[in-house]
Amino acid sequence: MFRTLTEIIESGYCMGCGLCPHYAPDAIEMLIADSGQMLPTIARDLTAEENAEIVRLCPGVSLDAPLREDKPPKHAYAFGDVGRLQRQIHEERVAVLRAFHTEVATKAFPYASTNIGMRHGEKAKFLEALDRWRPIHE
Ligand code: SF4
Repeated sequence: MFRTLTEIIESGYCMGCGLCPHYAPDAIEMLIADSGQMLPTIARDLTAEENAEIVRLCPGVSLDAPLREDKPPKHAYAFGDVGRLQRQIHEERVAVLRAFHTEVATKAFPYASTNIGMRHGEKAKFLEALDRWRPIHE
């Protein structure tokens, strides 16, 4: 379905989780868009491998990402079934993200009741404050 990060963003499926910059830190940065959402901004063309990895792991579009290997290493002994909890989390995550997808696809989400915005001029003030900010131990 999706082949690139750009397609994810342009389709409105990005939920601003901030994961994708970790897969191309020199190319992707999370910035505040005009809408007030945190969205990835892409500074250079991503490679096919980078796009493929992001599409595979992006929680906005990857509902069916495989779980980690269930089998423990040969030399290990399992005192419990943590994999059961991982599967439970996975199933819950899939249900939640399916609901999110449905709401985005029908343009019902974001909901007006939970949406927040900035007053006119607040973004510029915020960005100016960031420009002035210096770490204490510079
Ligand atoms: S990984 Fe997906 S949801 Fe997260 S910031 Fe990147 S595009 Fe958005």
